[in-house]
Amino acid sequence: MTNVQFNSPLPEESVAVSPSAPCAGCAEIKAKHYASVRDGNRKKAEATAVAMGRHLRAAHS
Ligand SMILES: [Zn+2]
Repeated sequence: MTNVQFNSPLPEESVAVSPSAPCAGCAEIKAKHYASVRDGNRKKAEATAVAMGRHLRAAHS
């Protein structure tokens, strides 16, 4: 589930980017994070929060 990006033949129309998700990586990580929170999986929620921090540093700094 970590490499799901840009697999669509029509990325501009198919990739749903929310106003708070500036890139596909952010959107994917946020989706995992919110799913984890929704499921009550705190460990995974924390892990995805850490992943988000790493992603922000790696891709947006
Ligand atoms: Zn990003």
